[in-house]
Amino acid sequence: MTVESHLDELELVVPSPVQEIHDERLERHGVRLLLKRDDLIHPEIPGNKWRKLKYNLKDAEAAGQTKLLTFGGAYSNHIRAVAAAGYYFGFETVGVIRGEEHLPHNPTLAYATTRDMTLAYIDRDRYRIKTSDEVLGPLQERFGEFFLVPEGGSNAAAVRGVAELPAEIDFPYDVLCAPVGTGGTLAGLAYAVPSGVRVLGFSSLKGGAFLADDVRGLQGVAGQVTDNWDLQLDYHFGGFARRPAELREFAQDFEVRHGVDLELTYVAKMLAGIVDMASTRQFPSGSVIVAVVTGPPDA
Ligand SMILES: *Cc1c(COP(=O)(O)O)cnc(C)c1O
Repeated sequence: MTVESHLDELELVVPSPVQEIHDERLERHGVRLLLKRDDLIHPEIPGNKWRKLKYNLKDAEAAGQTKLLTFGGAYSNHIRAVAAAGYYFGFETVGVIRGEEHLPHNPTLAYATTRDMTLAYIDRDRYRIKTSDEVLGPLQERFGEFFLVPEGGSNAAAVRGVAELPAEIDFPYDVLCAPVGTGGTLAGLAYAVPSGVRVLGFSSLKGGAFLADDVRGLQGVAGQVTDNWDLQLDYHFGGFARRPAELREFAQDFEVRHGVDLELTYVAKMLAGIVDMASTRQFPSGSVIVAVVTGPPDA
């Protein structure tokens, strides 16, 4: 079985649907908002995780590799998605987790093991130098040959996969918004939007200014650095792992208004940012905004 034949069987929802949101907080300022529902692509390999893995799977296959190894935190959506992708596309998977093992496993790691991922743990110091020979050497000795998928899945192959999204939007728009973790999604979108469209990435990390260099770096390895994107650093809500009451209330209210249950770490922060920016008139009247729903709420 090839990656392509598994793809035919999986029936991924690609192109993902677009849903218009009628929200008085935006319409009052002449702003239209549409959601690009990438969260619906596949229940276990959703959103930007699928887009970023697609060409990594094809590259692994082309390299003749049958085992994927990747890195992540114990709550990483990427670890989950790689475990699922391995399961559905016929690769063995190894997840190298930052920190010590804690039993029983949290829901992320418990899920990963149900998808046959082998878990390994490295301490925080070694995690920082995880792409060095000093760390990769022993992993190779232990697990044999593998195809390395970077943390967050963000590499040139990921940028190529994400870059397929803009072509699925078949109407004119002004701004494409997406949340930012490692910046792979932002890099790929900015690579491929029509000229004149700005891409706005909402950092879910506190102090995310360094991400600009990462995004440029990812675009560079993918072939071209563009200057059609901006990072919005003001809507991290206290930091990556933080979900303060204000954020949860925004998400609950959004669900009541629009019937869409928002993922909190990334998607709710972005949408709260869009609503706030519209109400402080940071989008000109007449703007059409498409916001990428990069993943579903936590299970
Ligand atoms: C992983 C993830 C992101 C971060 O994407 P990057 O490409 O790493 O910036 C955003 N949203 C959701 C829902 C995610 O799971």
